[in-house]
Amino acid sequence: MSHDSRTAPRICPLCEATCGLTLTIEGTTVTGARGDHDDVFSQGFICPKGASFGGLDADPDRLRTPLVRTDGVLREATWSEAFDAVAAKIPALTREHGEQAVGVYLGNPNVHTMAGGLYPPLLLSALGTRNVFTASTLDQMPKHVSSGLLFGDAQAIPVPDLDRTAHLLLIGANPLESNGSLCTAPDFPGRLRALRRRGGTLTVVDPRRTRTARLADRHAAIRPGTDALLLAALTQVLLEEKLTDPGALGEHLEGLDELTEAIADFTPEAVAAACDLDAETIRAIARELAAAPAAAVYGRIGSCTV
Ligand code: SF4
Repeated sequence: MSHDSRTAPRICPLCEATCGLTLTIEGTTVTGARGDHDDVFSQGFICPKGASFGGLDADPDRLRTPLVRTDGVLREATWSEAFDAVAAKIPALTREHGEQAVGVYLGNPNVHTMAGGLYPPLLLSALGTRNVFTASTLDQMPKHVSSGLLFGDAQAIPVPDLDRTAHLLLIGANPLESNGSLCTAPDFPGRLRALRRRGGTLTVVDPRRTRTARLADRHAAIRPGTDALLLAALTQVLLEEKLTDPGALGEHLEGLDELTEAIADFTPEAVAAACDLDAETIRAIARELAAAPAAAVYGRIGSCTV
C-alpha cells in the first residue's frame, strides 16, 4: 500500500441490500473493496458485485464523461457540451413531436443513491414524458402496481421480516444467487440459515431446483407461468378454512367479500393439474403458512414476470 493509500467506509449502491464496504483508495482510484465488519446491518457481508469495485472503477469501458452523438458517432464531451446539446435538441423535438417523443432509461444505481433518487423525478416531470424505462420495468413493475392498488403507494412494497419470521414462503425467488432484491437484507443466505437454526420453516415455490430450493424444507416445483393460479388457490384455502384473522388491520380492509367470491372456484383441486402440483401440497402450504406463529411471503422476479 503506497503512502497516499487510505480506506473509506461506504455503502454499496449496486442493490438495496445496502452492504457496508471498506474501500481502499490510492489517490483518486479505488483499488479494492471488502465487507465492513463494523457495519451494523451487513456485518461484513458483501457479494461478488460489491467486491468488484476496484475492477469497476478501473474498467476502461466505464463512462467518465457524458457522450454526445455527432455525425452518428458517440463522442466524449464536457458537461457544458452535453447540456448545450440537450438544450438545442430536446425543446425543439418536443415542440414538433410532443412530450411523448422523449424516452428515458434510468439505470439501477439511481434508486440506491440519494441524489439519484431525488433528481430524476424533477427531470421526468419537466420532460412530461410517460416513456420511462428502468430495471424496474423489466422485473418488478407488478410489485409497484399491486402495492399502489393495495396500499395507495407504488413504492410501499412490503419487506419480509426475515430475522423474526418462523415460516418463510419464497415464490419465484432465488436469493442465494440474487441476494434478495426488493428486500433490503444484506446476507440473505445467512439470514435463511439463521431461520433454519431457530427452527423456522422455509418453503420455496420455483420451477427449478435452485440453490435456495435445495435449502428448503419444502420445494414445490410449479409449472412456469401458473403462479397466479397457485396464489388464488392458497387464498381460497385460507378463506374457506377460516384461517385468516386480520385483527386490527380489519378496519383497513376493503373488498374481502368480492375477493372470496372471485376466487371461490380456484380450489387446489381445480388448479393442481395446471400448476403441476398436488392439491394436497397446495393445501399444506396454505395451512402451514396460517399455522406459523409469524409467517412472511416474499415473491420476486419469477412471480413478477408472469
Ligand atoms: S448484495 Fe452485493 S450488490 Fe447488493 S449491496 Fe451487498 S455487496 Fe452490493
